[in-house]
Formats: sequence, C-alpha cells, structure tokens
Amino acid sequence: MRANGLHMQPEVAADVARLEPAASVAPGHTLRLHVFASGSRGNATVVEDATTGAGVLVDCGICKRDFFTRCDEAGFDPAHLAAILVTHDHTDHTKGLGVVLRGLAKEGVEPVVYVDDAVRAASSELNTLEGKHDLRPLHAGDALSLAGMSVHAFRTSHDAASSCGFRFEAADGDVVGFVTDTGIVTGEAHEGLTGARLLALESNHDVQMLKDGPYPYPVKRRVGSDVGHLSNVQAAEELAALLSAKLEQVVAMHISQNNNTYRLPVDTLSAVIKREGHTACVQAAYQSMLVSVS
Ligand SMILES: [Zn+2]
Ligand SMILES: [Zn+2]
Repeated sequence: MRANGLHMQPEVAADVARLEPAASVAPGHTLRLHVFASGSRGNATVVEDATTGAGVLVDCGICKRDFFTRCDEAGFDPAHLAAILVTHDHTDHTKGLGVVLRGLAKEGVEPVVYVDDAVRAASSELNTLEGKHDLRPLHAGDALSLAGMSVHAFRTSHDAASSCGFRFEAADGDVVGFVTDTGIVTGEAHEGLTGARLLALESNHDVQMLKDGPYPYPVKRRVGSDVGHLSNVQAAEELAALLSAKLEQVVAMHISQNNNTYRLPVDTLSAVIKREGHTACVQAAYQSMLVSVS
C-alpha cells in the first residue's frame, strides 16, 4: 500500500498493491502482448505494462464473454484497462465495442476510446456509442500517454475510412510494434515498428492459395492489393528489414483461414530469421485462442 496517509478499503488497497512495480520484470522487458483474437472473424489485442498491470486494448471485434475469458487466461485484470484504440472501421475490429464497454461499465471500468474521426463517422457500431462513452479523436502521428506507455499511431494502407497501426513504448524503452490490415508497409509504419522487441505483424495470406482459393475475383484482387492485407512474403520482407538486436518475439497476425495455414506464416518468417542468423521466435496468432508473449 502506498504511504499516502489515506485509509483505504481492503479492495482498494489490493488494487493499488497490484499497481506497485512487480519485482520480476527485467529492465527493458516491461511490455506484454496478449493477442485475444486475430483474423477476419474478430480481432482484439491487449498491450500491458507489466510493471503496473495497466493496459490498452487494440480493437474489439470479439464478444463480451470471450473478452473476459481471455483477460482471465492472460492474467490481465480488466479493471486496469486504460484505453481502447480502434485501428479502423471494419466490423471484425469494432463489433464487440458496445457489449464489452457495457460489460466493463458494470464493473465500474470506463476506458477512453480513441478513434479517428473518419472511422467514427463510417462505423455504425461507433455511432451507437456516441454520448454513452468517452470517445476521443485519434490522429496518425499522434503520441498519446496511456497506461504508463507512450503510444504512437501511424497510418496504414487499407480500404477503410482511415486506418492505423501502433508503436507502444514503455518508460524503460521497451517497444511493441503492432500492424495489421495493411496492403503494404508504409514508410511511417516501418518507422513505427523499428526497434520493437515484441512485434505483431500481419501475415494474412499465401499468394498462391489466394489465387487458387474460393474467393470471387474482385475479393481476391482487393485482398492482394495495396489497400488489402499483407501476404506471408510481404510480412517476411518487412521482418527482414526489422531484424534488430532488440527483436525477440514475432506474432503472425490476421492469418486467413481460407488463403493460408497457421504453419505457413511461421515457416516463412522463421526462414528469414534463420537466414539472417537471428534468434527471434515466431508464432501464429489464432482466431479463438489466446497467444501471449513477454
Ligand atoms: Zn481485419
Ligand atoms: Zn480491415
């Protein structure tokens, strides 16, 4: 308990105790990345500062039950959710916002929702939240101070009203890079991901599987375009450019269940790491199973 002279109720004291620095966090290893769900059926990821237990949720395309189950599995206390960041207006990133915010409000938790004005205008889900929750504008290039982290938004290339990815930086310099739903890696996205220790990188499809797969031609063309999704090969090219002494863990994100396997992105990205004599580990993110790295 902090020696602030105030008498605290036991449950409040427990909360504060959880917010005291944890002795087990190694310097430069402050951040944790919990991917609750990733893929076209729903997305949600928490970035947590392990020294405080505070965190930020990126997107909320999952139901309330899955959200609270994954929090539990990840050991993340949703009472310490400081903010929700919305990457773009596609429903696989937004459809759970209302139900999760209402579920959190019942527990007395009211995270601020940061969303680009164009995304807010384009999303019926976000429209229903107007006036009921604390919605604030998010602009690419912004640096926000959230949950003890500096959070920088950068523009991505996607067929949404507007779209962005994020760089999370802890006080000790630890960095998480996060990018999904982008047809190409823009210069500002590459800059935002540089020097990450934990990297959440879209590896959506295998080009040949997309070509041979079941989607109608216009959808195939859209997915593979500059405003669609990153292929395994594009992800591997970007990873090669991001290999640094700091990089430790890569999570392959938004893997297509029709035009990819869970094995292919891991093999493709691992091959780059091996080729360059690097030691970073790669794993796949799943549609309905938690993946946590720290
Ligand atoms: Zn998506
Ligand atoms: Zn999208």
